[in-house]
Formats: sequence, structure tokens, C-alpha cells
Amino acid sequence: MQAEEFETIREFNIKFPSKIYICSRCGSLVSDPHQCNMCGCQSNNFLFSDKSYTYFIKDKNITNTIFKPVELEKGK
Ligand SMILES: [Zn+2]
Repeated sequence: MQAEEFETIREFNIKFPSKIYICSRCGSLVSDPHQCNMCGCQSNNFLFSDKSYTYFIKDKNITNTIFKPVELEKGK
């Protein structure tokens, strides 16, 4: 998946205020964007990369791959 770009981490937090993420593997709602506490799956597991979410913060020049924020599912 192509990374979504944000100017700052603040912009990211405004778009995804819930801080709840969907595990790429088991679909549980979790508060940790990097590791599921139900099945142990990690967000950078390439097997599930089509269900993860990658973003880029321009002012920090960082790229991060996390579980999909729940806001993205609500939008569908
Ligand atoms: Zn899981």
C-alpha cells in the first residue's frame, strides 16, 4: 500500500483521534498500533501488509507501518 502523507504528527492525530487499530490478522480492535495483544501479530508482518496502514510524516521524515486505524473502516 502506498504511504499516506502528513505534514506533522499532529495532522495524523487529528485524522485518527480514536487511537484504536484493527489487527491485520485476527481483526481485533487494539490500542497498540504495532502489536496485537490477542494474536501477537505485528503491524510490519509482510503477510498482512495489504491490511496494514503506512504513513509518512514530512516534518520528521519518518515512515511508519501500523495496523489500520479504525477510522478508515468507519468511512466505508
Ligand atoms: Zn490479532
